[in-house]
Amino acid sequence: MNDCLPSQTPLWQQVESAIRATVSSFGYSEIRTPIVESTDLFKRSIGEVTDIVEKEMYSFDDRNGDSLTLRPEGTASTVRAGIEHGLLYNQEQRLWYMGPMFRHERPQKGRYRQFHQFGVEVYGLAGPDIDAEVILLSAALWDKLGLRDHVTLELNSLGSNEARAQYREVLIAYLEQHIDKLDEDAKRRLYSNPLRILDSKNPQVQEVVANAPRLHDHLDEESQAHFEALKALLDSVGIGYRVNERLVRGLDYYNRTVFEWVTDSLGAQGTVCAGGRYDGLVEQLGGKATQGVGFGLGLERLVLLVEALGTQAPAAVDAYLCPMGEAAERQAFVLAQQLRQQLPGLRLMCHCGGGNFKKQLKRADKSGARWALILGDDELAQDQITIKNLKDGSQATVAMGELAAHLEQR
Ligand code: ATP
Ligand code: MG
Repeated sequence: MNDCLPSQTPLWQQVESAIRATVSSFGYSEIRTPIVESTDLFKRSIGEVTDIVEKEMYSFDDRNGDSLTLRPEGTASTVRAGIEHGLLYNQEQRLWYMGPMFRHERPQKGRYRQFHQFGVEVYGLAGPDIDAEVILLSAALWDKLGLRDHVTLELNSLGSNEARAQYREVLIAYLEQHIDKLDEDAKRRLYSNPLRILDSKNPQVQEVVANAPRLHDHLDEESQAHFEALKALLDSVGIGYRVNERLVRGLDYYNRTVFEWVTDSLGAQGTVCAGGRYDGLVEQLGGKATQGVGFGLGLERLVLLVEALGTQAPAAVDAYLCPMGEAAERQAFVLAQQLRQQLPGLRLMCHCGGGNFKKQLKRADKSGARWALILGDDELAQDQITIKNLKDGSQATVAMGELAAHLEQR
């Protein structure tokens, strides 16, 4: 679990504002849920035989002996809240959330125990148009952050729950014939979650999987049409994709559309954003049947990507006010407040603690400010102030009354 230090928060804020601007431009509404939920909620939604539930959850008994879990992802909580507050049945909801998630994993670059996700969840819409919209929304975020050329979209359809169940039987029968080549993980999942074996990273298992019956040969007609329509919509807005039939996603609740945005720039942790359709989940968690589709996006990986592109975090300060001497200090305190009121966009830091000219200018430099505003005895006497450009060293003295206009212009 990491501290996010002042040197890093500007980059985070930049990413977070890009996210807020994107969801706002699509008209989505924010939902905030608690960080702890009942353990049972995640077991029932994510699935008992998944990495998250088997090995990654932070679970504990509270003082009443109830088992609680720090949320490992956002979908289960959103569905729980939606059911509890009657937001889902017979309604359409386009929601987003952002916040910390917790998984007990081996920490490494791009993989942490407390990490942050931004996600969207849409309810009550069945068609491929909303799947395409959700993907378009994520693409709009890449555009805002200048990342579009650094991520690629992988796309798949898992078919209806019935088609998937049928394929499952065919797949199990095939894998049983090659059981000697499966590793421990694959053997354990053979009957509980065989589709997950399709995206095994073990080369020997991959060899077996390469000749396995294909999921797409078992897709039901409706799912096929849904998938074709989705691809056509993505084509129409110029979003490129690669159909990856091995893409099944780690969580149990997906049906039909699944997708991932992946990158080569982050080593092993290549998935930046992942999601899909989950039409059965609301009912499974006790609500009335309601379609769902959404994605989760890891903010740490996004920040790493933006950093890798060499994006400079903006400085926190535009101007640094340096008063020389007691009279100037008193004046500066008032002046700073006036400027902040006159120029609400200005980020102004006022020097505190006295000291000579050299010391104050050093502080001004360190603040990252573009301008030092120097108020000494001479300036005070003539009701003027000196504006020094800290980037190129040039300076000019202007009448106090014109300072705000000068700053605004620059
Ligand atoms: P992975 O295959 O990398 O473990 P996942 O399938 O477990 O990912 P999801 O549950 O789909 O991931 O979560 C969505 C996104 O959240 C991921 O694509 C990733 O960007 C991010 N994410 C997941 N786990 C972590 C983690 N431990 N640390 C940082 N980011 C994470
Ligand atoms: Mg994982």
